[in-house]
Amino acid sequence: MTAVAEMTNMTLKGTLKAREPMSRHTSWRAGGVAERFYQPADLDDLALALGSGELLRPVTVIGLGSNLLVRDGGLRGTVVCTVGALKDLTLLAPGVVRAEAGVAGAQVARFSVKSKLNGAQFLAGIPGTVGGMLAMNAGAFGGETWRIVKAVEVMDASGRISVRRPHEFEIGYRHVAGLGQDEWFVAAHFALAAARPDDNVLDIRTLLDQRAELQPVKTWNAGSVFKNPEGDHAARLIESCGLKGLRRGGAVVSEKHANFIINEGEATAADIEWLIEHIRDTVKTETGVLLEPEVRIVGEPA
Ligand SMILES: Cc1cc2nc3c(=O)[nH]c(=O)nc-3n(C[C@H](O)[C@H](O)[C@H](O)COP(=O)(O)OP(=O)(O)OC[C@H]3O[C@@H](n4cnc5c(N)ncnc54)[C@H](O)[C@@H]3O)c2cc1C
Repeated sequence: MTAVAEMTNMTLKGTLKAREPMSRHTSWRAGGVAERFYQPADLDDLALALGSGELLRPVTVIGLGSNLLVRDGGLRGTVVCTVGALKDLTLLAPGVVRAEAGVAGAQVARFSVKSKLNGAQFLAGIPGTVGGMLAMNAGAFGGETWRIVKAVEVMDASGRISVRRPHEFEIGYRHVAGLGQDEWFVAAHFALAAARPDDNVLDIRTLLDQRAELQPVKTWNAGSVFKNPEGDHAARLIESCGLKGLRRGGAVVSEKHANFIINEGEATAADIEWLIEHIRDTVKTETGVLLEPEVRIVGEPA
């Protein structure tokens, strides 16, 4: 009996698929298939699915796939998608918002403003989930995810949840270490200040308008491909090497923002990865700076 057939006999309430195209779950709309793809019904269902040991290993947890390149040969094991599954968003205590891992940054931002809390507006500029933002220490408009984290809930491979504090992690610019190999974020508790009438509050609409002016937001992309090196900008370095507009298959370096690679429709993951490697090599040769990818590249080549 295949893993998929076995799962149908269990009391799990989520949806399990085989050979699910990851192009449906990544903002680049490219890449191979997931051997198994599980969307749990909720947090309890995820705990049951993991604890039962029935999910094909290894398990990769994803959110909105807005920082993810899945190679064309696909991903072994099971991809667990938190979107639409881990979706609870509540006021846990005065000034503390609890958001499960599948909640989008924009939802947390809007909920906080409605709850008369200040400090989470910048999350509206990040098109990912709470889980992805915790994994990446995502940041925008001067804000950074972990600066507003009071605690996180982490689930292990047996489905057990533990509450951890920020000091238990090593946190830096787009860098978070401290999760075990088989541990995943399932919720964050954000500590926010009570809004006061005289606060110089960041307006979400204005932030998004600013962003649309600078970035090719209506295209298939994964945001900034490379981290900014200390004291400089990856986009400036890439542009200085004349790489804007460089093409490979259906992928192109954005003319609007040189640190974005766009899938114009038919790009393979290999096209995108080729551009990433080419940019890295060229910038290193011409400027001496070795750019570090911000996007996560996973899976097997075709
Ligand atoms: C147009 C655009 C603009 C962007 N702008 C910004 C920006 O301003 N600032 C910024 O920081 N980023 C930006 N990004 C990148 C991206 O949105 C962020 O990195 C975001 O945090 C990723 O969240 P996600 O849910 O899409 O994660 P995914 O892409 O699904 O996953 C990213 C990584 O996190 C891991 N992960 C996901 N969920 C969990 C979990 N629950 N537990 C453990 N690991 C997990 C995945 O396995 C993967 O390794 C942008 C992307 C786009 C497309």
